[in-house]
Amino acid sequence: MCALQLQCTEQILAASVRHTLEFGMSRLLFLLAVAIVVYLLLKSYRRQMPKQDTPASSEEMVRCVVCGVHLPKSESILAGGKFFCSEAHRSEHISK
Ligand SMILES: [Zn+2]
Repeated sequence: MCALQLQCTEQILAASVRHTLEFGMSRLLFLLAVAIVVYLLLKSYRRQMPKQDTPASSEEMVRCVVCGVHLPKSESILAGGKFFCSEAHRSEHISK
């Protein structure tokens, strides 16, 4: 009776230890996954931040009168109050 009960207790203990380990492991893995996701999100967020601050993306976009392509104002060619994507389109528009 006593030996049997000890065996039973051992089994219960072993089962609960195994359960605790498995639960702990899955919780650890879950926390690890969450940590990785948060880390990746923060990393991509931080990578996006300077991009938003660069003048190129916040700069005013203009449209080429000839082909309709959008480009930053600093990269465009201004002629006669109109914007062009290239010198070729500027002269093309003027020659029309
Ligand atoms: Zn163009």
